[in-house]
Amino acid sequence: MANMNTLFYQDQYRREFDAVVLSCSEDKKGWAVVLDQTVFYPEGGGQPADHGFLNDVKVTDVREKNDVIIHYTEKEIPAGTNVHGVIDWNRRFDFMQNHTGEHIVSGIIHQLYGYENVGFHMGDTIQVDYSGWLDTDQIKEVERKANEIIWTNQPVIIDYPSEEEREQIPYRSKKELTGTVRIVTVQNADICACCGTHVRSAGEVGLIKIISSEKHKSGVRMELLCGKRAFDYVCMLQDNAHDISTRLCTPMDKTAEGVVRLDEALQEKNRQLTEMTSLYLQERMQKMAAGEFVMDVLDGVERNAMRRYADDLVKVKGCGTAAVLNRRENGVFEYVIITQKDIGLRKLARDINGRLNGRGGGSDEMIQGTFSAAEETVREVLREMLVSDD
Ligand SMILES: [Zn+2]
Repeated sequence: MANMNTLFYQDQYRREFDAVVLSCSEDKKGWAVVLDQTVFYPEGGGQPADHGFLNDVKVTDVREKNDVIIHYTEKEIPAGTNVHGVIDWNRRFDFMQNHTGEHIVSGIIHQLYGYENVGFHMGDTIQVDYSGWLDTDQIKEVERKANEIIWTNQPVIIDYPSEEEREQIPYRSKKELTGTVRIVTVQNADICACCGTHVRSAGEVGLIKIISSEKHKSGVRMELLCGKRAFDYVCMLQDNAHDISTRLCTPMDKTAEGVVRLDEALQEKNRQLTEMTSLYLQERMQKMAAGEFVMDVLDGVERNAMRRYADDLVKVKGCGTAAVLNRRENGVFEYVIITQKDIGLRKLARDINGRLNGRGGGSDEMIQGTFSAAEETVREVLREMLVSDD
């Protein structure tokens, strides 16, 4: 791709150019325009294509096929037309910051651990796969060292060494390379064969944040954000932390402690609620008459309490079968049915659910789930199905 007409290699900071259309044909992706020279970088080496304009026609994608760079445009631009091209510089510079940042991180991981970058994708985040596992502390160390390369503003050098010269250079590469190879060096961090566009010194990367890591195959998959993306991410976290800190009345750097306190208070409240519910249900049970079949409808009681209550109705109160319902929105009831009778409850569940728009199941001793029917219908159907004739 290192031809004379690839202006983005002569000057990676060039945003505008003049060119002549050599050919223009329509294919499934739109109008395919070939120019005598271009600043538009085609998708490649993990870096997405440049977008922009040729005169007033939008360029939506750029691809390279057999050493020819194809600009996909929204309208036809006939062969012979003189065009002024402008790339979307914010988009391109974002890719330059993130691509160089990725090289710095990959170079440092290679220096420290000898792992290779085995997968690279630039989307909403920069996703990179490495051939070995790194734990949280190791990742923090990599991130700190990567940012030190930025603070010391290490130069980024691009050259095309001969094959003999290349043998002496310990550069990273995904495959065996022959012919002209473009080597991108970030001093003191990385040497890598790469066809992408890069910033001229590490300082322009601004900031590197590794925002996630997870096991992937036998190594680790990381998400990185560099430059403005990293800055925007930190701003988002700060806004988030500010909202949390306001809610918790806790300084922004103490929100985690605030959340722990809140969580402890919530657990205490839950414990109290469980206790109160249990007292309430016991009292309710005392007032209720025992019978072969009892049904009770509650509001806002969680399932564990419903189960304990139904269990007590059978085992303590001595009811034959107990159905405990809890009212939810839109005419839906949660149910727990417990029996001490040999009525084949597990099998009955299917018929009961069928008649009450229900779902759920369980054993011959207990079934649970939801019904979607009127309370009176539920009562009638359950009585009919659960009260044996003998
Ligand atoms: Zn690269």
